Amino acid sequence: MSQEKEKRTEIGEIGEFGLIDRISKSFGHKNPETLVGIGDDAAVIESGAKVKLVTTDMLVEGVHFDLSYIPLQHLGYKSVAVNVSDIAAMNGKPKQITVSLGLSNRFSVEAVESFYEGVKFACEDYAVDLIGGDTTSSPTGLIISVTAIGEASKEQVSYRKNAEENDIICVTGDLGGALMGLTVLEREKEVFKTNPEMQPDISAYEYIVKRQLKPSARMDVIFELEEAGVVPTSMIDVSDGLASELFHIAKQSEVGITIYEDKLPIDEVTYNTAVEFKMDPVTCVLNGGEDYELLFTISQTDFEKIKNLPDVSAIGYIDKKENGHKLVTKGGNTVPLQAQGWKHF
Ligand code: ADP
Ligand code: MG
Repeated sequence: MSQEKEKRTEIGEIGEFGLIDRISKSFGHKNPETLVGIGDDAAVIESGAKVKLVTTDMLVEGVHFDLSYIPLQHLGYKSVAVNVSDIAAMNGKPKQITVSLGLSNRFSVEAVESFYEGVKFACEDYAVDLIGGDTTSSPTGLIISVTAIGEASKEQVSYRKNAEENDIICVTGDLGGALMGLTVLEREKEVFKTNPEMQPDISAYEYIVKRQLKPSARMDVIFELEEAGVVPTSMIDVSDGLASELFHIAKQSEVGITIYEDKLPIDEVTYNTAVEFKMDPVTCVLNGGEDYELLFTISQTDFEKIKNLPDVSAIGYIDKKENGHKLVTKGGNTVPLQAQGWKHF
């Protein structure tokens, strides 16, 4: 045996995306049906005239959710919605899901049934069928893994890599709400811990708390785009924060990005809550995760067709790669765009 110590690299040193890159580099594809593997919101598999889309997301207690404030029913809904969101981000339609659970003995049959009530609501809302999964025990917390299978025609699929110079950058809904909802829930939890007599009053924060606990996948916008006859040149869902997702599109499309602060969509409750917590509202919009809105680019010629969609904002444009990534502030200054994103490691 060699006396030399084996090299040990901490995951934190290369980060989540660095780790995924490393895994991806050591696997090629053997099957011609595998059109796209690791690297987008979902894998793309040839299947007759259409393509199948496959995506998986895992939610871990203590990392992604805290059962002291998320009801199990909402958690069931959210677990499905975040996967449907990745199918939407490919411009596809979700069809089936599998749901796998790691359960500690803290959970009763009734608790699991509550979770599945939420799963069922989501299956109704997004017209998907639960077709399988796996159930196992877990030493402590709850682990949820959902896989969603979707469908699209080949011409309809939107990847992260095809944004082109002069395309318009659009985002759906408003951003930063889920982060501020979480911030309020964390505060109320602390208040409750120190004074259990206090009943939390979160009625003023209802909108942002819902954004955190029961997010929607924007399938409505996918149907609107289809009706308008528009296929985004690129698309991604906003799970880690707008800036981080913009960087994914920029990196994979090899382009630069310019966005305008005054065009960024923020809800009034999100804005006011950020101010209350002495946080910068723009930073919340740029780096708040879990809004599950869609970020996409369209060619300028398509802008007429979607400019009246009520829930879509044009926030900037795609530039040459060498022009970098920029934010034009309300005051007219141009500053480099920064991405914090969610760091799990
Ligand atoms: P999203 O935020 O859209 O769910 P992720 O950032 O989780 O996407 O993943 C990016 C890409 O990396 C996806 O194609 C995903 O399937 C792939 N991926 C993530 N983790 C792994 C892993 N452990 N092994 C193989 N592929 C992975
Ligand atoms: Mg995604």
